Amino acid sequence: TKDDMKRFFFKNAFVILTVAAVITGIILGFALRPYKMSYREVKYFSFPGELLMRMLQMLVLPLLVSSLITGIAALDSRASGKMGMRAVIYYTTTTVIAVFIGIVMVLIIHPGKGSKDEFTKHQQIEQVSAADAFLDLIRNMFPPNLVEACTKQFKTQYAKRIIHVTVTVNDTMLLQNGTQQIAKEEMIPVPGAVNGINALGLVVFSICFGLIIGNMREQGKPLKDFFDCLNEAIMRLVAIIMWYAPIGILFLIAGKIVEMDDITTMGGQLGMYTVTVISGLLFHAIVVLPTLYFIITRKNPFVFIGGLLQALITALGTSSSSATLPITFKCLEENNNVDKRVTRFVLPVGATINMDGTALYEALAAIFIAQVNDYDLNFGQILTISITATAASIGAAGIPQAGLVTMVIVLTSVGLPTDDITLIIAVDWFLDRLRTTTNVLGDSIGAGIVEHLSRHELRKKDPEVGNSVVVE
Ligand code: ASP
Repeated sequence: TKDDMKRFFFKNAFVILTVAAVITGIILGFALRPYKMSYREVKYFSFPGELLMRMLQMLVLPLLVSSLITGIAALDSRASGKMGMRAVIYYTTTTVIAVFIGIVMVLIIHPGKGSKDEFTKHQQIEQVSAADAFLDLIRNMFPPNLVEACTKQFKTQYAKRIIHVTVTVNDTMLLQNGTQQIAKEEMIPVPGAVNGINALGLVVFSICFGLIIGNMREQGKPLKDFFDCLNEAIMRLVAIIMWYAPIGILFLIAGKIVEMDDITTMGGQLGMYTVTVISGLLFHAIVVLPTLYFIITRKNPFVFIGGLLQALITALGTSSSSATLPITFKCLEENNNVDKRVTRFVLPVGATINMDGTALYEALAAIFIAQVNDYDLNFGQILTISITATAASIGAAGIPQAGLVTMVIVLTSVGLPTDDITLIIAVDWFLDRLRTTTNVLGDSIGAGIVEHLSRHELRKKDPEVGNSVVVE
């Protein structure tokens, strides 16, 4: 009937519009490329896309905190403990598999044959040591100032810098020159900050806070109600922003295509490298994760993934898994009917620490850099790379190209030149989008699996948070 048709369109409107936006964006981008827009013009042109990024990022902070606190407070501590264990086991298993795939792919395809001369270097990367990066990861779990954690992440940068010391020489010393410049090289600690929120710190805090509120029972109710209400209000905002998302995605994609370097010049090793990364990510996303989902839940994984389409495309458009988080929530809860007690718990943590795509990428890229340098890695070093790639993916923030920065941990751990990260910068904007999409898929399938495994605990419905309450 007409009503059914209307309902069908409305139910799938977002997906239809989003797919249309991607296609239009690609066509528009290529159509405008010949005009060689200036940097400023590209910025003006991509403005609607920039707005989408800003809107989504605006929601991340309140959404992350409120969903975790209420998600955990709604469960009794035994149930949340069990669910937490399952989530952690899922995150670890899939990340380890992803790293393994990355390593196998790069060893088999061996994209780094030839010499380094093929590359043009783009910019300097700051020097950070692996140990410092590890400590920063842990430091970020305990933000000393919660307000600051909402605005930046802690990152120590031990930068090498050349300082010019001007020495003024006194007349009375009977020396000839008045002033003299001395160039000195030194390592300086620069306590720095990364843009975006310290999601890891906020996750740790919210989990603890949620547990406490849950244990306080009656006394904790006002706070629980407050965060419940906050969460609900934010999700309603998400529902509005979703209507704008296709426009934003269209311009994000078109703008990027307009400004990207000429792809035809990207030959040889870098081209092979790109192909290797794409194959690895695709294998993980299309074969490994769906198989895992099917084995555990016995449900069709591609129906599940179909419900996530808008979130996946948003990840592709924004290259940020945390900016995509609001949309991921909507897709999982409304299209796939995943229990809210699970999504509220599994998604924010997943978006922060579970990055399969990034882990796969970091291991693969590090070995590629070794290959380019004709550096033979032994088994121990490859093992080191897999461990540090896992850590680096946990430490990477869900913001564009964060993985490129944390790759320093992986490279230094086996003594590879960190400057060589610049070799792969040219293609990173593109690969970043793909790994972000894989990250979001990994988190979402994780929610589906954890829900299935926790079905016994979830049978006791919490009337306030369970799926019995329909948003809107
Ligand atoms: N951009 C990725 C994300 O948001 C992180 C990365 O750079 O790998 O998930």
